[in-house]
Amino acid sequence: MQYQSFLIKYAEIGTKGKNRSVFEDALVHDIRMKLKPVKGDFIVTRERGRIYVSAKSEDFEYKDVLDALSHVFGIAGICPMLQMPNTHDYKAISQKVLSHWTDVYGERPVSFKVQSRRADKTFPMTSNELDAELGHDILEAFPECRVDVHTPEVRLFVEVRQYINIYSETLPGAGGMPLGTNGKAMLLLSGGIDSPAAGYLISRRGVVIEACYFHAPPYTSERAKEKVAQLARLVSRFSGAIALHIVNFTDIQLYIYDKCPHEELTIIMRRYMMRIAERIAGQRHCIGLITGESIGQVASQTMESLFCTNEVCSLPVYRPLISFDKQDIVSLAQKIGTYETSILPYEDCCTIFVAKHPVTRPDPEKIRASEKKLIPEIDEMVDKAIQEAELIWCDPGRENAGTDAD
Ligand code: ATP
Ligand code: MG
Repeated sequence: MQYQSFLIKYAEIGTKGKNRSVFEDALVHDIRMKLKPVKGDFIVTRERGRIYVSAKSEDFEYKDVLDALSHVFGIAGICPMLQMPNTHDYKAISQKVLSHWTDVYGERPVSFKVQSRRADKTFPMTSNELDAELGHDILEAFPECRVDVHTPEVRLFVEVRQYINIYSETLPGAGGMPLGTNGKAMLLLSGGIDSPAAGYLISRRGVVIEACYFHAPPYTSERAKEKVAQLARLVSRFSGAIALHIVNFTDIQLYIYDKCPHEELTIIMRRYMMRIAERIAGQRHCIGLITGESIGQVASQTMESLFCTNEVCSLPVYRPLISFDKQDIVSLAQKIGTYETSILPYEDCCTIFVAKHPVTRPDPEKIRASEKKLIPEIDEMVDKAIQEAELIWCDPGRENAGTDAD
């Protein structure tokens, strides 16, 4: 026997009043999107503050459905469920409960509690009577089990609604808020460990993300670019398709290298990345930037450096990893499946032109003075880089980066 249905549990916080239907609509929409590539035919329904996913036939893989649902933000828990048409025939319900018990717990001597709910008030037994009768039937069939009403190992839920729902397991969901309930932001995505994890965390709050990647051909390779597209694809398993903007940064980098003190290179480059990302963000209706920065991780991420980088942006910059230790970021990257790709050893544009002793406490006055030497030529280079940026749509279905005019 196989589960045919799933009860979707979501956090109630922020889902009161008018917000509630916005939240639920977005959640249902994303569940449908994530189930699209999964084999089988599914219906997603809402019934009195509940969301159900039901398979129309047995032609599906249980683990594929669970995998798809575990990538949906806004889901707190997933309960695989047996469902039967509403009946007033107690024997039929009891039989279904016992076969569920056999499948999931076999002969394991677990402590349990039956928790029935009767939304259908025409059902002839009260929920207390159902609890007692079903508990009795389970004990009779599995004498090694025992009832524990306070701290049971298993809570068996039986709900008499439009259907009769039977479930006892809750698998963890991805948490967060449904996609599309919180605007759109532009992620500065490099090939490292941090920025994909940062994109994941902000997207988890319901924010749709796009991404910008700065490369420096021929100093950085096609393989490095493909790696970043692959990272975007991995994040998109959660966040939905990501529009990845590839910006050619070579001329700008060479020009900065030529005109500015080398110890200021990284910080000035980072300022230009932020300026360009902010302009593309404006064109794409993004209302925030996201980076993978973390205080003190490298010279360009001291408080003084962050102050300097931040100064050039007027959009809010979200840095969800700001207080994370590296090991925590690594663990997160492993959990979301980006780590193995992130550690592939391809060159990054920042590392190629890096100075031996970059400033760790940049003075904003000095940096501004150095940047004056770049004007006006650099402004034209920036315009050109933005105009010529390439757009690649990254989603889990597209293994080869496909270019799209959008
Ligand atoms: P990551 O692991 O994300 O590459 P990092 O530890 O290498 O981060 P930096 O190189 O200082 O840190 O970059 C800080 C942040 O700047 C990155 O997290 C990312 O958001 C952005 N960034 C750096 N390089 C690039 C790039 N080539 N393209 C786009 N964004 C970049
Ligand atoms: Mg990096």
